[in-house]
Amino acid sequence: MNLFSTKGFGQDCPENFKLPSYEVFSMKMLCLRDIEYSRDGRRILRPINMRFREGMSYSILGPNGAGKSTIARIVMGELKPTSGQILLDGEDITGLSVTERAKLGISMAWQEPARYEGITVQEYLTLGGKLRTNKDELQEVLELVGMPYELYAHRFVDKSLSGGERKRVELASLLLLKPRYAILDEPDSGLDITAGKLIELILNRFRKCGTTVILITHHEGIALKTEFAYFVCSGRIIRRGFSREVVDYYRKTCRRCSFAEG
Ligand code: ADP
Ligand code: MG
Repeated sequence: MNLFSTKGFGQDCPENFKLPSYEVFSMKMLCLRDIEYSRDGRRILRPINMRFREGMSYSILGPNGAGKSTIARIVMGELKPTSGQILLDGEDITGLSVTERAKLGISMAWQEPARYEGITVQEYLTLGGKLRTNKDELQEVLELVGMPYELYAHRFVDKSLSGGERKRVELASLLLLKPRYAILDEPDSGLDITAGKLIELILNRFRKCGTTVILITHHEGIALKTEFAYFVCSGRIIRRGFSREVVDYYRKTCRRCSFAEG
């Protein structure tokens, strides 16, 4: 088990230090422990070890096809790993369903959010009135994602919304939900050049709520906005640590790699 192996990683970052096992099983954090995933005989994820401490923000940075969305779907419980465990505060949650994990406070904004006929933005964001919130908060969150309440609250979450607008609704929904863990899969894709600023506003708001953010991206500029990062390629962690160091390494190595797409 190499849950917190420091081999090959920078030494200054707290994320690189090996934790004694009593801390692994008592600290407030989400851990991926030796997670592997194979499909049709193909290894998509090699043994992956990650930890996400409460209240911190993390990027999972890597080129297309690296395995980033697969990691997210395994954390959410949408895919079952071939081997390994997911631990939440030391409890094994590997066998739990998506709904059970959502109840524990793990939520996700998907890379390609779904559309729903006949449901308004307001109904969607308030879970049909089930979520405890008020108009001021709804207004504030919609404003934050660049969708004025008056213009959007009563629009339908169907194909009349553009892909970018749909992504903004999805992000607003997570902000209102205030989960313990928010996984954002490529939140900047489909958005315009203001995406970087929007991601910053979203990260600040999550920080205030104490939400741990796991932000998946293939843009190093976006990865720089979180505190820590994992650089993933070909189903392996290539580097972990402070985002600045990880992004520097990514810039030096990834663009020159002939295996990387795009
Ligand atoms: P990323 O999100 O980093 O772009 P993914 O996790 O989506 O990467 O994919 C990782 C690898 O798994 C890729 O090589 C991809 O082709 C493969 N993969 C993803 N989904 C499927 C699927 N449904 N069937 C077969 N292979 C898949
Ligand atoms: Mg993906």
